[in-house]
Amino acid sequence: MTLYSDFLEWQARMQALLEEGQELAQRINEQENQNVSLQRRLLSKEDAQPSGFDMLSDLYDEGYHICPADFGHQREDDCLFCLNFLHHKGNKE
Ligand SMILES: [Zn+2]
Repeated sequence: MTLYSDFLEWQARMQALLEEGQELAQRINEQENQNVSLQRRLLSKEDAQPSGFDMLSDLYDEGYHICPADFGHQREDDCLFCLNFLHHKGNKE
């Protein structure tokens, strides 16, 4: 009788451990899914928003000064100050 009740107790513990293991596996799975969706959101944000430098570079290409002295004014020719700014920001060394 004692052996049988020991066996039942052992079986109940094994069952509890199994359920705990399944719960853990499910939680890990949920965390991984959450990770993937967060990474996707981060990546899509990076794609959607150009950096400040890209925006200034576009502004210069459209014919505006981006140098501090004449920022936002229309330029006739290439501006050395703007080009200097673009050159240095482009080099991230
Ligand atoms: Zn300029």
